[in-house]
Amino acid sequence: MQVPVIRRVCVIGAGTMGSGIAAHLANLGFEVSLLDATAPSVQEAFERARAARPPHFYLPDRANEIRLGSTESDLGWAAEADWVCEAIVENLEAKRALLEQLDAILPPETMVSTNTSGLPIRALAAGRSDSFRRRFLGTHFFNPPRYLKLLELVPTADTDPEIVEGMRSFLEDRVARRVVLAKDTPGFIANRFGMWSMFHAVHVAERLHLSVEQVDAITGAFLGRPKSGSFRLNDIVGLDVMRDIAANLLERCPDDPHISTLNQPQTLTALLARGWIGEKVGRGYYRREGRELLALDLDTVAYRDVRAVDIPSLQSLGSLPLGERIARALELRDEAGEFLRLYLIPTLQYADYLKEEISHSVLDFDRVMMWGFGWEMGPFALIDAIGSERIGRPGPPFYQGRSQRLFSGRYEEPPNQPQFAPVSSYPLVGEGETYRLRDLGDEVLAVGLTTKMGVVSPLVVEELTDLVENKGIDRFILTSEAKSFSVGFDLAYLLRHIEMGAFEDIEVALARLQTLGSLLETRTCVAAVAGHCLGGGYELALSCSRIVAQAETQIGLPESKVGLLPGGRGLTLVRLYNQSNLKRLAEVAGHVVEGTVSQNADHARLLGYLRADDVTCYHPDALISRAKWVLQRTERGERPAWARSDAPLVGMLDRQFDQAYARGRLTEYDHIIAEHMKNVIGRATSYEDSLIRERHEFIALCRRPFTHARIKHMLETGKPLRN
Ligand code: NAD
Repeated sequence: MQVPVIRRVCVIGAGTMGSGIAAHLANLGFEVSLLDATAPSVQEAFERARAARPPHFYLPDRANEIRLGSTESDLGWAAEADWVCEAIVENLEAKRALLEQLDAILPPETMVSTNTSGLPIRALAAGRSDSFRRRFLGTHFFNPPRYLKLLELVPTADTDPEIVEGMRSFLEDRVARRVVLAKDTPGFIANRFGMWSMFHAVHVAERLHLSVEQVDAITGAFLGRPKSGSFRLNDIVGLDVMRDIAANLLERCPDDPHISTLNQPQTLTALLARGWIGEKVGRGYYRREGRELLALDLDTVAYRDVRAVDIPSLQSLGSLPLGERIARALELRDEAGEFLRLYLIPTLQYADYLKEEISHSVLDFDRVMMWGFGWEMGPFALIDAIGSERIGRPGPPFYQGRSQRLFSGRYEEPPNQPQFAPVSSYPLVGEGETYRLRDLGDEVLAVGLTTKMGVVSPLVVEELTDLVENKGIDRFILTSEAKSFSVGFDLAYLLRHIEMGAFEDIEVALARLQTLGSLLETRTCVAAVAGHCLGGGYELALSCSRIVAQAETQIGLPESKVGLLPGGRGLTLVRLYNQSNLKRLAEVAGHVVEGTVSQNADHARLLGYLRADDVTCYHPDALISRAKWVLQRTERGERPAWARSDAPLVGMLDRQFDQAYARGRLTEYDHIIAEHMKNVIGRATSYEDSLIRERHEFIALCRRPFTHARIKHMLETGKPLRN
């Protein structure tokens, strides 16, 4: 197999998808041009993309790197690209006309793909040259591409199998996608089944006269799905998009006996008639009025205040493992049970009915729902969990261990994709109360924190110190078994000890955290971080030779938000890593005083939280393999030697902090915290002195009532107190 070499991409169509795809590719470093029908239309569409929330771009400036043009005057740019990705309006004739133009101008090696969500790929390819059809396929991205990793890859009978495999590898390795090969059937897997499931939930909710909040509570986290549940998801996808996809499927699947579910539920029709098509226009099944959230009453089709959901069984079953939880919920005699019997059972039956027609395997089918819709378990894993007799089709399980049952009836293990293996899939070779030790092969170990959100408690510090100091581990990855690497040091511990007046204990805990950090510096280790990498967790990560950060990671030292300062070597390392550029040092110190947390890894680099040698991993599932790869190329690092500063560092810090105060970015109390930080960063005379000062100033803050109030508030509400 030959993986195509692709550096330049031309995306055609600058709407929701085209702009999103172009932004994602620019984020990844591709050279991107984006064309729409006319010069004004591309500008207008791209302005919308710049303002998109959540943002398409990691850094707003990245948008300036995309070259904008029109198919009227710049179609020639397509011929300069290695890959042309068509994402214009969902209209067969419009797409065919554009592809015909491209056929005439593209060199024979250019890859061409379409982002249609439902048109037949073979109909789009029909009439094109042999050479064109060989390298033409569907690349069905999901909206928004930065955040949804699924890509359905849809070849036609004419697409060269080598090209299919090459594009698959390219998309997985370079475009940060998880790829499922789909058949060229209407709506592929995601829309054919996913849309049916979305429509069916609305029909059942209307029939049972449930509220949108009730249905969202049942079909969100409780079902192992994103908390948007059903109706919030409809608003996010857009009711107009739902209507169009459904209309296309109704037209193209007349022989599907279940297709009538895609007829519009009455509330959908009513909302569409009023133009209330969801989040794009601020109202759909929910409506935001200033800070207030309203919900649509499905019976009266009028908005009313959102109501708290009171279904006790959701609470009582909520902590069971997902499969067992759902099996038990199907027996319930309350609203949840009734809804699930009418919604989930037919949905799973429909998946079973469709599977061979639309997918190559049940694993592919399940993956589409997991990767594209965020389901924790796909329909077939769910059928296994509740028992196939529950859907009225008793049969052997779809999965046995790692193997899946193919449509032939034979069980087979799917090909291994070690690059996407999560840390939890590696053999366990040791364990403490707060970590697991795993063997990643090639003499590389992974130490994964198991505390909630990777909280760094004194026990974590004790256990990791013992592990590194006494158990002879020398080359390892420091990571977390949870979604977040670490939200920081244990605030509950601090609050308890502040309230007891046990300040010496806190100082000892800090000293141990500092010692662990300096111990890590004597080993070859890489921190593999995702989710959050904050406070004490970030201080440990920064003590590793290198950090490999998943692109969406929020990184920073937000201690000031709880009235503290980084006392586990954070300030010292900020000083050491920026001492050659004092202006930069003052800026980074300014971020720390404000408690700024980065929005993503690229932003963290801009803020000065990542070092030049630290690595961003753009693939959401490749963190561990990437960290291992980096570790294998990493020499033991050395802490930079302390350099005396001759320049007036204290004065520079003063200016930085005073300006932030004058601009209203620091409260009176933040300004006091800044003074304490200045005593460390600005006045320390050596590495050792800096560590002592960190502890000293940290304890001084712990003694202040405002700090106590901030910590307490954070623990009680999860939000910072700006006192
Ligand atoms: P959109 O309506 O937001 O954007 C379409 C863009 O194409 C518009 O900016 C329009 O000016 C432009 N356009 C139309 N004809 C053109 C031409 N001949 N040359 C150049 N530009 C032209 O649509 P969208 O939602 O971005 O969808 C684009 C494609 O992606 C469709 O095929 C759609 O089915 C598919 N898709 C959409 C989603 C989604 O969630 N919106 C998801 C996956 C796939």
